[in-house]
Amino acid sequence: MSEKKKVRKTFKFKAVASKTTAAHAEQWLWRCQQLYNLALEQRILTYRQFGVSLNYNDQSAELTTFKKEFPEFAQVGSQVLENVLERLDKAFKKFFDRIKKGEKGGFPRFKARSRYDSFTLRQCGWKLNGSYLTVSKVGIFKLILSRPIEGQIKTVSIQRDGCGDWWVCFSCIVDAREYPEPAKGVVGIDVGLKHFCVDSDPDSEPIANPRYYRKLKAKLRRQQRVVSRRKKGSNRRRKAVKRLAKTHRQIANMRLDFLHKVANHYVLNYSEIHVEALKIKNMVKNRHLSMSIQDASWGLFFELLGYKAADAGRQLVKVNPRGTSQKCSGCGEIVPKTLAVRIHSCKSCGLEIDRDENAARNIKAG
Ligand SMILES: [Zn+2]
Repeated sequence: MSEKKKVRKTFKFKAVASKTTAAHAEQWLWRCQQLYNLALEQRILTYRQFGVSLNYNDQSAELTTFKKEFPEFAQVGSQVLENVLERLDKAFKKFFDRIKKGEKGGFPRFKARSRYDSFTLRQCGWKLNGSYLTVSKVGIFKLILSRPIEGQIKTVSIQRDGCGDWWVCFSCIVDAREYPEPAKGVVGIDVGLKHFCVDSDPDSEPIANPRYYRKLKAKLRRQQRVVSRRKKGSNRRRKAVKRLAKTHRQIANMRLDFLHKVANHYVLNYSEIHVEALKIKNMVKNRHLSMSIQDASWGLFFELLGYKAADAGRQLVKVNPRGTSQKCSGCGEIVPKTLAVRIHSCKSCGLEIDRDENAARNIKAG
């Protein structure tokens, strides 16, 4: 018998905190942010003065002495402080990876207070009792448990969002989901402007762009205008900013939910999924297209599709986008058309279909 495959899964819940708990948690966030910046500064200075690159082990070994010298940090859990150094270490590793690949930039930056918005505990310093999470020396968070937590909890992160609300993330080890054999073989997906996407399966309908966040966008613009009218530093402005942040969050949640659903549909039904290797960065430069691209969030969609496909053992193939919209999927003839032409109509073989469906068929064949 084979061991069941294990994967990491995150369970995120909104949490309610008393004023005291929230104040303690804020205090911890602040200490974490300070430690992050101090540790970053130490790395930079040590390198400049001695040409030595510090790593995680070097810095964490100093924590005990550091806490003796600065007792205000001793109130924060040791694991939490270690995690701050781990995050910095990850930021450096990412930076070095970029350099290796010949990419520019990405040097770890000092973090402003508002940008350091979560701290993480490992195995100790917290206790979960029903929907109450007690973090020692911080307080009690009442979780709004929207679904049960599964598997073995590895880490617990406490996060404050832009609206000033608290969230708790449990990262757990769970059994990998088992996927039944898909009913269908290869599918080509063309992401488009008119629809969110169109695929090559003759049985399926185009998937429309969700309209709801168009509507929310209008609300967003309205709220943005209110914010800019309010006086800086005023209470009324602060309230308006909070409302704006809530709408942003609402849009992000809806978008993610939509993208998950679409990606699941393809992963569950097809054994091999073909998409175009799009250069999103280049496309967003085109202002006319950019609004729709950001709306439709193709980048995030491909990312979700990528990890879901890997998880389910499906093949995800990135096809060269060259000519997918111009070529006839019936006979291979090039049929030039501008963005405005919606129908692919081929004079050589007589094929007449929606342009996006034609592209999807080419992507499938690619
Ligand atoms: Zn043709």
